[in-house]
Amino acid sequence: MEPVQIITFKLSEIKAGEEGIIFNVLGDGAFRKRITEMGFVRGAGFKVLKNAPWQDPVEYKIMDYNVSLRRSEAEMIEVVLPEMAEAVSGLRFEGTIEELVSKTRIREKGKTIHLALVGNPNSGKTTLYNFASGAHERVGNYSGVTTGSHETSIKRSDYTFTILDLPGTYSITEYTPEELFVRKHLMEDVPDIVINVIDASNLERNLYLTTQLIDMNIKVIIALNMYDELQGSGAKLDYPALGRMLGIPIIPTVASRGKGIDELFDKIIDVYEDQDPTVRHIHINYGELIENSISKLQSLISENHTAHYSARYLAIKLLEADKTSLNILSCFTNFEKIKTRAKLEIATLEQEFNEKSETVITDSKYGFIAGALRKTYQAGNDDKRRHTEAIDKILTHQYLGLPFFILFIWLMFQTTFTIGHYPMEWIDILVKQSEQLAKELLPNGMLKDLIIDGIISGIGGVIIFLPNILILFSFISLMEDTGYMARASFMMDHLMHKIGLHGKSFIPLVMGFGCNVPAVMATRTLETRKDRIMTMMIIPFMSCSARLPVYVLLISAFFPRYQGLVLTSIYIVGIVLAVLSSLMMRKYIFKEKDVPFVMELPPYRIPTLRNTSIHIWHKGSQYLKKMGSVILLASVLIWALGYFPRNVEYSKNFEHELVQIKTQASWSASQKTASTKALEMQREAEKQENSYIGKLGHWIEPVIAPLGFDWKIGVSILTGLAAKEIVVSTMGVLYQANEGGEGNSLQNKFKEQTHARGKLKGEKVLTPLVAYTLMLFVLIYFPCVAVVAAIRKEANLKWAMLVTVYTTAVAWLISFACYQIGSIFI
Ligand code: GDP
Ligand code: MG
Repeated sequence: MEPVQIITFKLSEIKAGEEGIIFNVLGDGAFRKRITEMGFVRGAGFKVLKNAPWQDPVEYKIMDYNVSLRRSEAEMIEVVLPEMAEAVSGLRFEGTIEELVSKTRIREKGKTIHLALVGNPNSGKTTLYNFASGAHERVGNYSGVTTGSHETSIKRSDYTFTILDLPGTYSITEYTPEELFVRKHLMEDVPDIVINVIDASNLERNLYLTTQLIDMNIKVIIALNMYDELQGSGAKLDYPALGRMLGIPIIPTVASRGKGIDELFDKIIDVYEDQDPTVRHIHINYGELIENSISKLQSLISENHTAHYSARYLAIKLLEADKTSLNILSCFTNFEKIKTRAKLEIATLEQEFNEKSETVITDSKYGFIAGALRKTYQAGNDDKRRHTEAIDKILTHQYLGLPFFILFIWLMFQTTFTIGHYPMEWIDILVKQSEQLAKELLPNGMLKDLIIDGIISGIGGVIIFLPNILILFSFISLMEDTGYMARASFMMDHLMHKIGLHGKSFIPLVMGFGCNVPAVMATRTLETRKDRIMTMMIIPFMSCSARLPVYVLLISAFFPRYQGLVLTSIYIVGIVLAVLSSLMMRKYIFKEKDVPFVMELPPYRIPTLRNTSIHIWHKGSQYLKKMGSVILLASVLIWALGYFPRNVEYSKNFEHELVQIKTQASWSASQKTASTKALEMQREAEKQENSYIGKLGHWIEPVIAPLGFDWKIGVSILTGLAAKEIVVSTMGVLYQANEGGEGNSLQNKFKEQTHARGKLKGEKVLTPLVAYTLMLFVLIYFPCVAVVAAIRKEANLKWAMLVTVYTTAVAWLISFACYQIGSIFI
């Protein structure tokens, strides 16, 4: 062939609607590897589909799949125009030499078979998992050390199966915690059989992970999922032949409708008993040069005993400059020799190919896949894709996309609060009735008080939010299952990236304005632990609806003229703090480089009722169990602190005076009730002051005095630890507001309060400045017990404690600044 001069462009320079061919990926190792795994390999054709709002990220079609890249990342990819096709594709690897290696021995493990589900995100692992486990489901813990995985065990035809649902990955390297987690599990815990779940409508990229499993030399069965979509598009796949080529049995499945699951399990048993003829261990042929390097390294490694790892696998990994493998080998006696050899081989390869060695290996893996598919696969016309593109023309339109998104979010919240309102009322009535019932049935005494004021009101406070949470989660689950969530993140990514977060963080943050607890739970939709934790840490700054009553009370008392403005300013302070905190964490805690934002935009799918209801049921029961226990404990504790000690010395004989009121003949009935109420309030307030929590309030007074707060505010803040709306009811008690009386409202009582002692004795406690400071404090400090419990559950205890300390410290500092600086001017 005549040498042709190759003219390259940057991918970012290609306009929407144009096509081209990938030529080269620049940048450092992690980036390049990630990008090539997503299908951006030399010779692959692509089309630029569209830009998101703000021109960033950009959506591409590559290997028949839509992915989005940030513009800055697209700058790192060199491409050529279609005219160069011939010159470029000649450089691509092809090759499917097979090598037969003896079958792995049967492991005598009794009749329990350990399975692990591995596959790309969105390939249907969880759907398969749920279907297989069915009613026997016993979902394990969500947050493992680094990432989520569920485990369940089921019985089927004389065997017990344990199934582990691992997080979705595009490959098994060491670039994300998820990948490391999967890798570690496969290599160290060694499942008997790995079920590789593959999205049949996107074979080329899904099989990439399979080639890595082949290298690892473990027993694999492929669940060719979404087979309905493959058939629907009219494509044809000779899957038995493909299976023979890969040495892996392939079973077509439609997990969402439970098709093929029985066959899958039959096959698992066959393979486990070593009765399947398809199973054999093949070697992917990487071409003469690489194979040469592999065998040299392999023989060095084989001088040692490598129990968990195949020597060939480690050799390949070394050529990819994989640090984890180097670590594994570091205990070998000839480690130095291996290391030097690896360096040498890498250098030789890079010299020869003029390309990073890991890219060369990725390229040849894709070459292998292309070769295997050429013989077995015939593409159809892709209806689903076309529909998806038609829908996306509107929903992710450069200008219309955002309004649509805002509309959906608004609809979500609107529905949550309007429809949620009814069951909330029913629950409220139920709680009131049980209170009433308890009042009538139980004998007076501590137990009665505990049950009514501690337990029933504590539990009531939690389950009242359950309808909201369920509705919110049905929406989120719908958005996820249809594929809209990926689009929403695509549109928000530009903004969120600016503050160091991921596009997907947007939804949990917005949810935070409703209630922080489901918001924290919703961070699960984020892929990396870093994103999950960063989002969780700033969610408390999103002012939830429980804080609203506090603002409303204070604003109506002190800012009658600028109500809307003041309220908005509080919300904005929260958002600004969230942004600053995120930037700070990015700078000091999560410094490591971003994994590139390569997000798959799956085709729109109609969600199944089964999937959605499982989703909602999970969320609901988890909320009840976990939050119920913690909240209950906390509210009982706070109740007890306010209840004891019992032997309070009152300033006057309340019992006596109450009786006297009853016997006042000249008073009208309404006068009597009013006076009784006032007296009872006063008694309650005295009791509060002398209770442990009152003492605590006095005790923390020196700490909060610089913020302009007195002990009553202190007590209110303390009770607000359980839930922020409690701040209002506590103030009601402490300030002895008489609900009925004219001019006697809580708002007016606030204005009359004076400092009882200290420097400011005699001066007014609550001024507009103090009120604003207090609002800031309530906004920022310790979110509430349920949120901290949720963070502990989703992240761990350390982060829960950090969020506690951090929010409270920031609250104090901001309030201090506000009050002190304000005092200078006012
Ligand atoms: P995971 O990320 O691998 O756990 O994937 P999920 O189990 O969450 O599934 C992703 C989406 O694919 C969901 O909307 C499922 O309803 C859908 N899905 C799963 N299996 C199939 C299937 O066999 N056919 C079709 N058409 N859709 C499926
Ligand atoms: Mg899943």
